[in-house]
Amino acid sequence: MATAMYRPALGSATTAFLARKHQMLIDGQWVDARSGQTFAVEDPATQEVIAHVPAGDKADIDLAVAAARRAFETGPWSRISPAARQRLVWSLGDLIERDADELAELEALDNGKPVTNARRDDVGGSIEMFRYMAGWATRLNGEQIPVSSPGDWHVYSLREPVGVVGQIIPWNFPLMMAAWKLAPALAAGCTIVLKPAEQTPLSALRLGELILEAGFPDGVVNIVTGYGETAGAALAEHSDVDKIAFTGSTEVGKLIVKAAAGNLKRVSLELGGKSPAIVFPDADLDRAIAGTASAIFYNQGQCCTAGSRLFAHQSVYDKIVEGVCQEAGKLKVGHGLDPSVNLGPLVSNEQRTRVVGFLEAGRQEGAEVVTGGKVMGDQGYFVEPTVLARTDRTMKVVREEIFGPVVCVQSFDDSDLDAVAKFANDTEYGLSASVWTRNLKVAHMMARKIRAGTVCINTHNYGDPAWPFGGYKQSGWGREMGKEVMEHYTETKAVAARL
Ligand code: ADP
Repeated sequence: MATAMYRPALGSATTAFLARKHQMLIDGQWVDARSGQTFAVEDPATQEVIAHVPAGDKADIDLAVAAARRAFETGPWSRISPAARQRLVWSLGDLIERDADELAELEALDNGKPVTNARRDDVGGSIEMFRYMAGWATRLNGEQIPVSSPGDWHVYSLREPVGVVGQIIPWNFPLMMAAWKLAPALAAGCTIVLKPAEQTPLSALRLGELILEAGFPDGVVNIVTGYGETAGAALAEHSDVDKIAFTGSTEVGKLIVKAAAGNLKRVSLELGGKSPAIVFPDADLDRAIAGTASAIFYNQGQCCTAGSRLFAHQSVYDKIVEGVCQEAGKLKVGHGLDPSVNLGPLVSNEQRTRVVGFLEAGRQEGAEVVTGGKVMGDQGYFVEPTVLARTDRTMKVVREEIFGPVVCVQSFDDSDLDAVAKFANDTEYGLSASVWTRNLKVAHMMARKIRAGTVCINTHNYGDPAWPFGGYKQSGWGREMGKEVMEHYTETKAVAARL
């Protein structure tokens, strides 16, 4: 890789956005932080500063929550019909589609991810999320309940929006995480204060412009940029926030739970993972190799569902290790804005340092580095796609979430599915898993035995707006997407009328 990282040219819309002053969206207005402070946003491939955004803190969160409360209680949003809400949410999908290329560029620049993936998955997935969730706005009905109490009764339930929602999102899929959070909350009729990750605030601010263009009333969506320990913490503990939805690390998830206890706000959490990919001897090995490599290298391994523990049956172990290494070698590494690149930098220096620390720990504990294992170049936060073999359950690299392009391979020789599931379940996480086999019984029996919120068969990192997604164990609370997510954003009210 060249020493100086070349940044491909940006389109005119992205250039124009970057040249604008970046402010936060509060009550329908673009504003600076009350403190006047800003922080720099970096291109992780070149380490150049690409923007400055407001460093919002408690004072700004207070204003944003107050605006969201007013919009929820008394604004036009509180009287809007479900059909009008549905149209607005849908139209946000259309606006994202109109500006898809610009949003994909921003995402590649800010996060480092390959622009081709950003266009297809991050932007494409966000469009579909708004469109799918729009439909729920007109489908959130309660029920008539047949009670047996003496007398004549008409008993029914209503589903009402939960109220003011705080949403804290991570940096690995900045736009898509905003879409996952905003779309269902808006469909349900909530109002929102969204805090994007400090590493990647830009696409959320561009989305804020689209939200105003779509015509959402003032205060319905507020976007506060800032650090987790200040703005994020203030939002999590705010006594006038009814619900907090968080995606990020398990460690911060636990802080969110504590902060939420003050007013017992509702909490949903989508946290870390250490997901197994299990290859049985009868699998289509070409597919399994390509699929398990992509499971860990996609998005530079910065996926909560990343297939970071690869279990290969001992009869195919050597082939799998060799194949995944070959796949790693095929990846074109470079600036995410280059459409031919398929592995970008990690998001930040901090993240690279963390991943490098894990690589050192792996070596010290006796893992064999079959390919990769080092940082790349002297500019940008690049780490080689890495395969660690001869790993075992006691190693730090096997137990903890690395969130980088590093897979730990282990072999198994058991045909007893319970024994195989025991390997897979030997983790405090339970977000996702994949099973690679041609045997239907093995596939579906394993799906039952694995303790994880999602199980993929002959694929990994699957997603769809209709797919309920979330974790068992320390991978989280609740499900996002699908009809399940609407539970997060609604309260059930039971009404009993004596006739
Ligand atoms: P990562 O470790 O991958 O950066 P984090 O869990 O730290 O993930 O960050 C996810 C989101 O949580 C970001 O928006 C971040 O600003 C926010 N955050 C970090 N610390 C806190 C905190 N103490 N309270 C609330 N939000 C936080």
